[in-house]
Amino acid sequence: MGKPTGFLDYERESAKEVEPLERIKNYDEFHIFLSQEEQQKQGARCMACGVPFCQAGMTISGMTSGCPLHNLVPEFNDLVYSGNWRQAYNRLRKTNNFPEFTSRVCPALCEKACTCGHWGEPVTVRDNEHGIIENAYEKGYAVAKPPRVRTGKKVAIIGSGPSGLAAADQLNQRGHSVTVFERDDRIGGLLMYGIPNMKLDKKVIDRKVNIMKEEGITFKTGVNVGVDVKPKDLFKEYDRVIMCCGSKKPRDINAKGRDAKGIYYAVDYLSKNTKSLLDSGLKDGNYISAKGKNVVIIGGGDTGNDCVGTAIRQGAKSVTQLEMMPAPPVERAEDNPWPEWPKVLKTDYGQEEAIAMFGHDPRVYETTVQEFHKDKNGNVNEITTIKLRKEVNPETGRVQMVIVDGSEKKIKADLVLIAAGFIGTEDYVVKSFKVKTTNRGNVETQDGSYATSIPNLYVAGDNRRGQSLVVWAIREGREVAKEVDTSLMGYSYLQ
Ligand SMILES: Cc1cc2nc3c(=O)[nH]c(=O)nc-3n(C[C@H](O)[C@H](O)[C@H](O)COP(=O)(O)OP(=O)(O)OC[C@H]3O[C@@H](n4cnc5c(N)ncnc54)[C@H](O)[C@@H]3O)c2cc1C
Repeated sequence: MGKPTGFLDYERESAKEVEPLERIKNYDEFHIFLSQEEQQKQGARCMACGVPFCQAGMTISGMTSGCPLHNLVPEFNDLVYSGNWRQAYNRLRKTNNFPEFTSRVCPALCEKACTCGHWGEPVTVRDNEHGIIENAYEKGYAVAKPPRVRTGKKVAIIGSGPSGLAAADQLNQRGHSVTVFERDDRIGGLLMYGIPNMKLDKKVIDRKVNIMKEEGITFKTGVNVGVDVKPKDLFKEYDRVIMCCGSKKPRDINAKGRDAKGIYYAVDYLSKNTKSLLDSGLKDGNYISAKGKNVVIIGGGDTGNDCVGTAIRQGAKSVTQLEMMPAPPVERAEDNPWPEWPKVLKTDYGQEEAIAMFGHDPRVYETTVQEFHKDKNGNVNEITTIKLRKEVNPETGRVQMVIVDGSEKKIKADLVLIAAGFIGTEDYVVKSFKVKTTNRGNVETQDGSYATSIPNLYVAGDNRRGQSLVVWAIREGREVAKEVDTSLMGYSYLQ
C-alpha cells in the first residue's frame, strides 16, 4: 500500500474539462489531465483494501460491480503513487489490452465500487490509468512487441471493434497468425464510428492499431464477410473463425408518420459525422447536418447524449432528448447501496453543453413519440409526444410504462435521431453463417463458452452479449482468445 493516510491527506482531484461553450467549437478531446506529480498524489488515496471491490467485476443485483477486466487496481494505484510508472504500465497491460480506450470512454465501474467512495470521493482510477498509458507512449515503452515464435495456426476475426481487437492482440501474442476482416474503411468498430471524436480521438485508435500491425496482425478493411467473402471460404483458409460483429441492428420507433424524411438512426448520424470529419474536416459535406434545425433525439442514454454533443457542435437550433423512463434519483436510493452500480442521475458532457447553450437540460422524461408529422415535401417538421407513467402489471408483477391519456403535445422537429437501443446481430451475418441465435437476437453459445452452434466458429463482444460496454468487449475478446487457443493447442496460458 502506498500512503496509509493518503485518503485522509488528499482530496480527490480529477481531470478538468474545457468549458462547454468553448469545447463545442470543435471535435477535440476536452479533458485537461493532472501533472504526473499531482496524479501520484491521487494514487496515494487508494486504501489497498483487503477486499478490493474495484477489481471484482462481479454481478450484484443484476449489475456489474467493479472492473470486468479484473484490472489490478490497488496494485497500479500504488505504483503510480511511488512513481513506478513503467511497472504500473506492465501491471495494467496484464489485464487490459487497451487502457488508451478504457481510460477515455469507460464509465469506470471500478470507481463506483471503490471503498473510498462509500463515504466520500472514490480514487481517480480512470485518470490514473490514463496517466499510466499516456506516460508509456511518451516515454516510448508502449511499443510493438511481436511474438518470438509462430505456431503456424491461422485465425480469422470478423469485426475490428474492441472485442475483435482484444482477441486479435491475445492470439497474435500467442503466436497464431491473425487476420481481422472489417467492412468499414477504418479499424475500430464503434470506437471509430460510434463514439464521437471529442470522447475518443481517432488518432488514439490509429496509434494502437499501427502497433498491432507492426506486431504482425493483418487488417483487411472494406471486406464485408457474408457479402464479399463467403464463410465457407474462411473455414477453408483459417483454422478458427471468430465473429465479433457487434449488435448493430437498431431498435426502431413504430409510430405514425415514421416514413417521413429526416429521421435517422443515431449510429448512422454519428458515424457519418466522424467519417466526414476524418476524411475532410467536414468539408465534403457527407454527413447529416443539424445546423439550424430543431433536433429531437429519441433515447435518453449514452448514445443519445453523443447525438446531443454532435448536434450542438453542428449548430442545432434546439435539442430535445426524450426518455421513456422516469429521471433517476440524484443520490443512491436505499435499495441501491454501495458497491452496487449507482442508479443515479448522470449529466453527461452533451447534456452539460446543452444546458450551457440553451439554458436547460435537454432531457424530457417519461415521454415518447406518438406521431411524426411531415411538411408537403415529406420532411419531418413536428412530432406529437405523449407522457408515460410507471405501473406494476398486476398479472406479471413487472413494472411497465403506460400511456397517460390526454397528455399529447406537439413539438418542432426538423431532424429526428433514434437512439433507442439495439436488438442484436444483423440478419445477413446470421444467415450467411447459418448460426443459431438467442431469443434476444444475439449469437448463441453454451454457458461458459464462446463456441457457437457451428464447428470452429466462435463469437464474442456485443455480438454475443448484446450492446454493452467497451470494457466488456475487451474481456470477451480475451476470453474467446483463450478458448480458441486451447482448442488449437490443447492448453492455453493466456489470461
Ligand atoms: C454511439 C455509441 C456510443 C458508445 N459509447 C460508449 C462509451 O462511451 N463507453 C463504453 O464503454 N461503451 C460505449 N458504447 C458501447 C461500445 O461501443 C460497444 O459495447 C463496443 O464497441 C462493442 O464492441 P464489439 O467489438 O463487440 O462490437 P463493435 O464495436 O460494434 O464492432 C463490430 C465491428 O464488426 C464489423 N462488422 C460487422 N459485421 C461485419 C461483417 N459481416 N464483415 C466485416 N465486418 C463486420 C462492424 O463494421 C464493426 O466495425 C457506445 C455505443 C454506441 C452505439
